[in-house]
Amino acid sequence: MTMASTTEKIIAMDVWQVSMPVTSQRDHGIGSVANAIDAVIVRLTSESGVHGFGEASPWVVFTGTAENSFSALHRYLRPVVIGSAIGDIAGTMEIARKSIVNATEALAALETALLDLAGKCFNLPVWALLGGKCRDAIPLSVSLANPDFDQDIELLQTLRDDKVNIVKLKTGTCGHAFDLMRLEILRADFPEFDVRVDYNQGMEPTDALRQLKDIEAFAVTFIEQPVARQHFGVMANLRANLDTPLMADESVFSANDMLRAVKEHICDCVSVKIMKSGGLTHSKTISEIAAAAGMASYGGDMFETGIAHLAGTHMIAASPNISLGCEFYQASYYLEQDLLAEPFPIKDGKVQVPETAGLGIEVDMEKISHFAVSHGKE
Ligand code: MG
Repeated sequence: MTMASTTEKIIAMDVWQVSMPVTSQRDHGIGSVANAIDAVIVRLTSESGVHGFGEASPWVVFTGTAENSFSALHRYLRPVVIGSAIGDIAGTMEIARKSIVNATEALAALETALLDLAGKCFNLPVWALLGGKCRDAIPLSVSLANPDFDQDIELLQTLRDDKVNIVKLKTGTCGHAFDLMRLEILRADFPEFDVRVDYNQGMEPTDALRQLKDIEAFAVTFIEQPVARQHFGVMANLRANLDTPLMADESVFSANDMLRAVKEHICDCVSVKIMKSGGLTHSKTISEIAAAAGMASYGGDMFETGIAHLAGTHMIAASPNISLGCEFYQASYYLEQDLLAEPFPIKDGKVQVPETAGLGIEVDMEKISHFAVSHGKE
């Protein structure tokens, strides 16, 4: 094949907001999800007609709105991207980050698309553009968040058949007694599972220590973000008084947040997400700061399709410190349909790192058209 030139230009950008139907309700601390999730898909086109895809996966109570991601890309980032060279990813992202505040999901989508495009043009997987890989597979965690626990028990049986053996129980939504009851059943009937809990900021600070002492009796692997993101002092106090590792999620979006988390001793480990940090490279930076502080990292996600899952997979493949697995389960276990042309790759309970160019799996354009609620183009 003829190799593309690094100076080849990006000549077109399409942005779609999609509404993706889901199979059940989920309660996650600060908010619930039912019926459908919103995402924004961006497609860049090079002069030679190669496409690069990326996804913004916002959640209104966590990072922002799909409408914000859509306009960030379609209106404000478009002039940064059109005419830029496909090899100038870091430079384009630097300008993009200075062109709009927040909008981390839109920036993650843009960097994903730039890396997918360059990877396809130079016949390299995205992980190779991030410094090469340190793992070929990533242990998968599936979240249990259904207010009807009987349905989650059915899901657990499916997971057992699929050789998935990590689950994250979403706690703090229907009362402490409901959480303890579910943990008792999990430990009695599903003893082979590695169990983690995630409050998504759902605890009252005054209740937190006493209730988490009860949770510790179930020997969970970690306790994630019990209280609101701004309560660094409460997090530090919980960390000092619990034996179970405390994970920060909503408290750490950026590298600066990570530095503060280290300085104020608010956690033992951190959930790294491209939708919080604004892209793959910034997520790698956060995991390296955590590594320098002796903290392990975990590959978190939002309500995503397989496109964002793939971006996270390549980022984790190139990040040695993200050693606690990932939660890229929605495309396989939650969405009614995904946007990828092939199933998101999971085998024996592990996400398989693609070896082919770019993100490694094609996007199904018919599905994007089918689920699109709006389309922005020049
Ligand atoms: Mg979380």
